[in-house]
Amino acid sequence: MDRLNQKLIEKLKKSGERITPIRRALIENFCNHPKPQTPQELLTNLEKKGLMANKTTVYRQLEILVQIGIIQEINFSDRSKRYELSSKDHHHHLVCQNCKKVEDINLDNDLDRQEKKIWKKNHFKVLQHSLEFFGLCNRCQ
Ligand SMILES: [Zn+2]
Ligand SMILES: [Zn+2]
Repeated sequence: MDRLNQKLIEKLKKSGERITPIRRALIENFCNHPKPQTPQELLTNLEKKGLMANKTTVYRQLEILVQIGIIQEINFSDRSKRYELSSKDHHHHLVCQNCKKVEDINLDNDLDRQEKKIWKKNHFKVLQHSLEFFGLCNRCQ
């Protein structure tokens, strides 16, 4: 078990939640596949590991992991929900509208300048933002 995995299991333990095989497998999966994943993808992965689960179970487990702060929900504008580790550095996503592949990207200087402008013009203090790009990946063009 790698360190991140261990750290997250520890976090789960501290929260007072039980460490079940499904939760353990989900956390392991997020550590091994650091891309935003849909509940369906996660379910398929659990089944591959021989764990019996259904969509409702997966949703419930994900909700708990979100509450504890281990993972976060990303709402893409195609109304699909995906989940990824919340301990990752700030980043954005490239979403292929054809094959649904999602890539992480980092922007130079991110939106620092825009946020300063917003502060000046609107006197609005931005605490966070999310930004996803939609289009066609290399293979789908
Ligand atoms: Zn694609
Ligand atoms: Zn950003």
